[in-house]
Amino acid sequence: MKIARYQTPNAVRIGRLEGDKVRDMGTDLFAHMQVFGQIHDLDQVRLLAPLVPRKIVGVGHNYREHALEMGREPSAWPDLFLKPATAVIGPDDAIEIPAISQQVEIEAELAVVVGRVLRDATVEEAASAVLGYTCINDVTARDLQRTDRCWARAKGHDTFAPLGPCIVTDIDPSNLLVESYINGQRKQYARTRQMLHSVPELLAYISTVMTLEPGDVVATGTPAGVAQIHPGDVVEVVIDGIGRLRNPVVERAPSPQIA
Ligand code: MG
Repeated sequence: MKIARYQTPNAVRIGRLEGDKVRDMGTDLFAHMQVFGQIHDLDQVRLLAPLVPRKIVGVGHNYREHALEMGREPSAWPDLFLKPATAVIGPDDAIEIPAISQQVEIEAELAVVVGRVLRDATVEEAASAVLGYTCINDVTARDLQRTDRCWARAKGHDTFAPLGPCIVTDIDPSNLLVESYINGQRKQYARTRQMLHSVPELLAYISTVMTLEPGDVVATGTPAGVAQIHPGDVVEVVIDGIGRLRNPVVERAPSPQIA
C-alpha cells in the first residue's frame, strides 16, 4: 500500500494512493488500515511530506564508494547523526540554499519509517517493526561538514530534509534502485544491496543507542555521486517501487547576522 499525506482546501489528511487518486484514511498514520473515505483526484490536492517525524536518524558512509569519495574508510559500525524534524519539507517544496554555504549537495537515500517501539532490539525484531519506506534527500552543506566538528549546521538547515512522496508499506528494502537527478541528469545510481549495513541491522544498532519510536525516520545513507545544487535547479530522488521526490532549489533569504 502507498500512503500519502495531503492538504485539501480545509484539512490535512492521510490517504491511500490509487493511481491518480487518493482515498481518505483519516488523520492517524498509525491507525489507518480500516478507514476508507472520500476519493480525491491527486491534481486537486497538495501532497505533503508523508509524515512529520519525531526524529530523523542519519547514517553516514553506508555505501563503500561514497565513503571513499568522502576520503573515509568505511567503519565497522554505522556512523550516526541526527537531522531536526524542522528540516522536513514535502514534494515540490523548495530547498533553500543558505548564504553561509558555498557547497550544498544532494544525497539520495532510502528512508525507513519506524512503526513500533524498538529498544535494544534484535535484527529480527527490527525487521518486523518497520511501517514502510519513502525517499529522503539528506541535503548537506558539504563545506560546513568539512569545517565543523559536529554536523548540526551541515545537515540541519531548514528545508534540508525533503521527504516523500509517499510511504510504501509492502516492499522488500534489500535490493531497491536509488537514484538522484539534477535538472534531469542522473548523478547517483546504486542498489540498496550495496549498503554496508542492512535496514534491520541499522535499526537494531540504533536502538542500542536511542529508543526508536513510531514516526521516527532513519535515513540509510547515500551512494556515491553526491553533487552540488544551485538556485534554479530541480532535484529528484527516485527509488523504484516508491516514487519520485522532486524539489526545486532557491536561494534562502539572508538571516540576521549575530555580531
Ligand atoms: Mg546522508
